Amino acid sequence: MQLTNDLRLALSKNELFIEYQPIVDLKTANVHKAEALLRWRHPEKGLISPAEFIPIAENTKLINEIGSWVLTQAIQQCAVWRRQINGRFQISVNKSPIQFYDRRPEHVDWITLLAEDPQLERAIVIEITEGLLLDATGQVKARLESYKENGIQVALDDFGTGYSSLAYLQKFDIDYLKIDQSFVANLETVLDNRVLCRTIIDMAHSLGMAVIAEGIENKVQKDILLQAGCDYGQGYYFSKSLSPLDFEAYVNINNN
Ligand code: C2E
Ligand code: MG
Ligand code: MG
Repeated sequence: MQLTNDLRLALSKNELFIEYQPIVDLKTANVHKAEALLRWRHPEKGLISPAEFIPIAENTKLINEIGSWVLTQAIQQCAVWRRQINGRFQISVNKSPIQFYDRRPEHVDWITLLAEDPQLERAIVIEITEGLLLDATGQVKARLESYKENGIQVALDDFGTGYSSLAYLQKFDIDYLKIDQSFVANLETVLDNRVLCRTIIDMAHSLGMAVIAEGIENKVQKDILLQAGCDYGQGYYFSKSLSPLDFEAYVNINNN
C-alpha cells in the first residue's frame, strides 16, 4: 500500500529514470539499437526492480501515465542518438497489455510525432509479450496496425515462455522475435536449448522476422547464437543497462 502511494508520486518527484541496454548486431559487433528499461530510485528503499513495481503500476493503471513518459523520453533520446551515433538508431520500449486496453487515445500524439518527422522513421520499436496477442481484441489489433502504418516496429518479447501459439506469428505483423533468456542460459551445456534456439531463429527468418537473443552472459553463448544465424544479442556479456552518458561512452569504445 505504501509502495503504491509512493509510486503515484514517483514521476512528479523525478524518482523514475530510464537506463538503456545496448542491443548488439552480432555480425558486425556494432550497437545501433537499445532497449529502454525503467528504473525507480525510492528515497528510502533505494533502487526498486521493475519486476516489483511494474505490476503495481499495472494494477493501479499508473502504467498508462508512466508508459507515456517512458515513450516520450525514448523518442527524445533516439533523436539525439540518431544525430550522434547512427542515423538509423532505434530504441525499443516495453509496453504493458494494460496500456493497449486503455480507451483514451493517449498515444495518438506520439504516433503522429513519429510519423511526421522523417528523421524519426522507424526510431521506436514497441516490445509486447505473447499474452497480448493470445487474447487480442479488435482494439489491440487496430493499435498494432496503426503502428505498422506509421513506421513503428513491433518486437515479441520473452518469446518461448508464453503459450507460443504459432498462429499469431502469421496473423500479426511482427518485426523482431526476442528469444527469452531462459533458452540462452546454459546454451553451452544444454543441447535442448541449442536446438530450440536454432529452431526459433530458422522459423523467424522464414517468416521474415529478425531475431534478438536476450540474456547473453558469455562469449560461448554469443558464438553459438552467431553461428545459428541470430541477428542481434543483448546481455551482460556485452553490457548491463546504462545511463545515457555511459551508453555514449560504451558506443564510442565499441562501435567500428
Ligand atoms: P524485459 O523487457 O525482458 O527486459 C530484459 C531484462 O533482462 C531486464 O531486466 C534486463 O536488465 C535483464 N537482463 C539483460 N541482460 C541480462 C543478462 O545477461 N542476464 C540476466 N540475468 N538478465 C539480463 P529489468 O531491467 O529488471 O526489467 C525487467 C522487466 O521489467 C523487463 O523485462 C520488462 O518486462 C519490464 N520493464 C522494464 N521497463 C519497463 C517499462 O518501461 N515498461 C513496462 N511496461 N515494462 C518494463
Ligand atoms: Mg523487453
Ligand atoms: Mg525479455
